[in-house]
Amino acid sequence: MKSIYLDHHATTPVDPRVMEKMLPFFTRDFGNAASKSHPYGQFAAEAVEQARKQVADTICAEPADILFTGGATESINLALKGVAGFYREKGTHIITAVTEHRAVLDSCQELEKKGFQVTRLPVGPDGMLDLDELEAAITPETILISLMHANHEIGTIHPIAEIGRIAKEKRVFFHCDATQAFAKEKIDVEACGIDLLSASAHKIYGPKGVGFLYLRRKNPRVRLEAQINGGGHERGYRSGTLNVPAIVGMGATCALYQTEAPAERHHMRHLHTLLKSKLTVGLTQIRFNGHPEKRMPGNLSVSFAGVSGHQLLREIQEIIAVSSGASCTSAIPAPSYILKAIQLPAEYAQATIRFGLGRFNTEAEMGVAATCLIDAVNRLRNQNDEKGRKHRTALACNMKNESPDCATE
Ligand SMILES: *Cc1c(COP(=O)(O)O)cnc(C)c1O
Repeated sequence: MKSIYLDHHATTPVDPRVMEKMLPFFTRDFGNAASKSHPYGQFAAEAVEQARKQVADTICAEPADILFTGGATESINLALKGVAGFYREKGTHIITAVTEHRAVLDSCQELEKKGFQVTRLPVGPDGMLDLDELEAAITPETILISLMHANHEIGTIHPIAEIGRIAKEKRVFFHCDATQAFAKEKIDVEACGIDLLSASAHKIYGPKGVGFLYLRRKNPRVRLEAQINGGGHERGYRSGTLNVPAIVGMGATCALYQTEAPAERHHMRHLHTLLKSKLTVGLTQIRFNGHPEKRMPGNLSVSFAGVSGHQLLREIQEIIAVSSGASCTSAIPAPSYILKAIQLPAEYAQATIRFGLGRFNTEAEMGVAATCLIDAVNRLRNQNDEKGRKHRTALACNMKNESPDCATE
């Protein structure tokens, strides 16, 4: 049985219109974009350059600023390790936040092993940074600030234009992990003072295994130490034969965004409001995580008191495909590092559900999802009440030195 897919922060289906654009590049137009002595390669190279322009237009950049990669994780590694490697003589301090994606946090951890210092800024209960703290953390040694646009778990949107302004004032590079916000929120790398930006195609209805790094070429020019060496592709920063079909798909999905963004944002907001209001009406002791307004409409992170996340997920998994806010690294589910960072109150820390709404979701599906969740939470809470009541009665009987059978009130 197919459940309703509500996990679009993890990945999205490829839009059929995008796939259609990709297909010829697997078979008929299979050329190597770096082998341009014949029409096969020339045609592939032209397709790549068109995609480069389509991507660049989405963030108000120039095509030459776009480096294609194998996804956002790779882009982030290239940005952080690349800047660190190239500017090591200038400084060895990097600033990021505790709620960043693992790709950023783990890259920073690697850099620490190589002698860099990393400041991880805390966030408030709404997932928001304190910009004064950011400013205060900058030292003459600081070379890079890496802060995300929209959070992948709780949807909070950081004030990237202000972060960019602070970075410019202090002459520090600003890398933005925009994987969740790209081709959803409006991003202008000039207006926001972004020097490097990472994103991925598979979060925005494109194929998996392709992403890009925006790398500013002027005011100021940013340089990197390449992490993959070879044939000198992508300005020498990322060698390796280009994945032409995937790149074409990434361009095509950006082109769709250009025409459909307003309608899509409206659709997301509508579904978000619908689902949220249904849950609010149907359940008590529930909490919506992340910033109430400065947030991505496709995200809804909800915590429930009095139930276990483990059980809850089991109850609903046949009907809706969602992700939990638990880290799966241990047998006992603990709240994720992001939920810990926002200091989710203890009574809510046991069960969190992350909804990632998508382009193809419908109003009717929001109804089904809400009903399914409300029923499951009520069922589990009743079971727990029942258990608690039995337990309390048994205790009372023990104290009176009677057999628990007396508890058949
Ligand atoms: C998914 C995601 C990534 C990693 O992207 P991949 O292309 O899957 O490597 C990085 N950052 C954020 C915020 C994400 O949501």
